[in-house]
Amino acid sequence: MSRFKVFITRPIPEEILAKIAAECDVDMWHTSAILPPIAEKIPPLDGLLTYGHEPVSAEMMDTAPNLKSISVMGVGYDHVDEDAARERGIALGHTPGVLSDTTADMTMALLLAAARNVVPAYNHVQVAKAWTYYDPNILWGYDVHHATLGIVGMGRIGYAVAKRAVAFDMRVLYYKRNRRPDWEEELGIEYAELEHLLQASDFVTLHVPLTEETTHMIGKAELALMKRTATLVNIARGPVVDHYALYDALASGQIASAAVDVTEPEPINTDHPLLSLDNVIIAPHLGSATIQTRMKMATMAMENLLAGLKGEQLPYAVLQPGWHT
Ligand code: NAP
Repeated sequence: MSRFKVFITRPIPEEILAKIAAECDVDMWHTSAILPPIAEKIPPLDGLLTYGHEPVSAEMMDTAPNLKSISVMGVGYDHVDEDAARERGIALGHTPGVLSDTTADMTMALLLAAARNVVPAYNHVQVAKAWTYYDPNILWGYDVHHATLGIVGMGRIGYAVAKRAVAFDMRVLYYKRNRRPDWEEELGIEYAELEHLLQASDFVTLHVPLTEETTHMIGKAELALMKRTATLVNIARGPVVDHYALYDALASGQIASAAVDVTEPEPINTDHPLLSLDNVIIAPHLGSATIQTRMKMATMAMENLLAGLKGEQLPYAVLQPGWHT
């Protein structure tokens, strides 16, 4: 029997790669250089493991009659045309849950860094070498404890953020389409409509998936509702926030600061106006980037990929093999 042909879009841990290579012929994009269009890799493929949010369109799938399995190493799969995969019976897997705590930790890291001026402090001491005497009047931030946190999109990651925020003695408001009274009772948190959440919160963190409904969910009108002392943390997907509206809100002092792990586009252009501001922290999509979590994600992605290739049930499925509408 001929071996499955698989393309992996970014280097994955060697031991996981070896397990895939034991059963498949693997082509992996090895360098950090810009990836060639996946379409160039698609035609002879049986399986695709995406590890960098590379778009996978219906047109690409049409050039790959053998494609059986798409495995996303990540929980968000907005870059894959799910309907097109469903119509073609292609299995689609992702890695939910395993990265929730890690991404929640990064959410708190961004929130705390913005509130307590960690980046300006680093610039002051280590970059500008300007700490020549103790000045008690510089870099005053905002209290995190006992402040109000608004969580937009309260699923696996939002819940993990809420647990951390409660431990910081924060008041927590959350917004999602389907209310969770059990979580309200368990954590002592409160449901709020989006408008009220934005008005009442000192910190707003975003954890919705990117969909048509959530694209530019936070724009000019929403930012205008926020407090002038508020911080926006986006660790969901860049397009959830209208970046030009965000620039205006930050530049005009409409909100105090932002800390984002994701941008639109991604990577953000080096001449993007947001990069000219000193009240925004931009991380290069590090939400799940820890040694332990990336290993677990790679393992799950491998299991999904191989199951899809063999026509077996995916352990972490968006679409099971042969799924037809
Ligand atoms: P999840 O468990 O599916 O949670 C998403 C939540 O968003 C759900 O509670 C859902 O509740 C809510 N939601 C969906 N559409 C909404 C809408 N239109 N308005 C309001 N709420 C809405 O997903 P997760 O595992 O927490 O991950 C969330 C997202 O985080 C992923 O999709 C991914 O894009 C992003 N992420 C980023 C990183 C990173 O490295 N920066 C890492 C991991 C994940 P309802 O259905 O009740 O509305």
